[in-house]
Amino acid sequence: MLDLIKKADRITRKYHKKISVERAIFLSWYCEKRDCKFCYMSTLSASKKAKRTIESLLAEILICKNLNWNIEFLSGGYGVYSLQKIKEIAEKISQTYQKVWLNTGIMNKRDMEIFGNEIEGITGSLETFDFDLHKIVCPSKPFSRVLQMLEDAKDLGFKTALTIILGLGEKKEKLENLFSIIKEYKIDRVTFYALNPQKNTIYEKFPSPSSLYYSEIVAKTRIEFPKLEIITGIWIDKISMIGLLLLSGSDGVTKFSMKSLLRNYANFKEEIEYAARIQNRVFDARFKIDSEKLERDVEIYGEDIRKKVKQYVDAI
Ligand code: SF4
Repeated sequence: MLDLIKKADRITRKYHKKISVERAIFLSWYCEKRDCKFCYMSTLSASKKAKRTIESLLAEILICKNLNWNIEFLSGGYGVYSLQKIKEIAEKISQTYQKVWLNTGIMNKRDMEIFGNEIEGITGSLETFDFDLHKIVCPSKPFSRVLQMLEDAKDLGFKTALTIILGLGEKKEKLENLFSIIKEYKIDRVTFYALNPQKNTIYEKFPSPSSLYYSEIVAKTRIEFPKLEIITGIWIDKISMIGLLLLSGSDGVTKFSMKSLLRNYANFKEEIEYAARIQNRVFDARFKIDSEKLERDVEIYGEDIRKKVKQYVDAI
């Protein structure tokens, strides 16, 4: 295990000079599928179509820009926004800050043809590399359709990414499936998450994966794919795993609640900065809002967005 991490660390220092903080931007807290066995949204009522306003989204984007955090992707459940609306949102975000990755469900080629320069890439939520388990945990998101979307996205000139949750009960030896997919579909980025057991799901009493298991998967992936972008998701209660994940090959961290992170950033900052020093990598994300810069940035926006930014900043 130590040799594995040592090897992954050597590759990471050579090809991955920067450590990032990534922010998944949620468009909604509703999904018409609601049958993925681990998902918080599967526990919500079908009647609540909770979706965010563009003002709320742009306010969050402006704060991420201020803190130098990347937008990992736009995410949301199925059946909330039309493709045209997603395109409009992506255009606004790319004008405000960065081109956008989408993680908004399975799309066919014709669906994706609507998107253009505002989109950096398309993410397929594969969720697990264990095909047998996949049929059980994601009954409405067939593996083959996710992969077809990624192939089509590449044809259209977009980058592609996968998300994988570790700790769903997958067999470790099936990791080879993931490696075959990355090779065959020329995947540019993989985001790993550790299971965060949700109440009222079958995983409610499952443990989250151990730090060493998580690191082993990341390190093996890094060694197999030296240039792949690897993002690792960690909840706020597992900050001490970050250093190990960075040594194992992670490019950046994600999955934190903005409020809890900005309120308790000292441990998080220390954890990343210590690893960055050891690995001689750059870490230039910030955890304190530059209020003067934020004021200048919001000047060009309307009253609604300015109010929303103030509301977010006040809540932190
Ligand atoms: S499709 Fe996505 S949002 Fe919907 S239940 Fe499955 S994991 Fe959750």
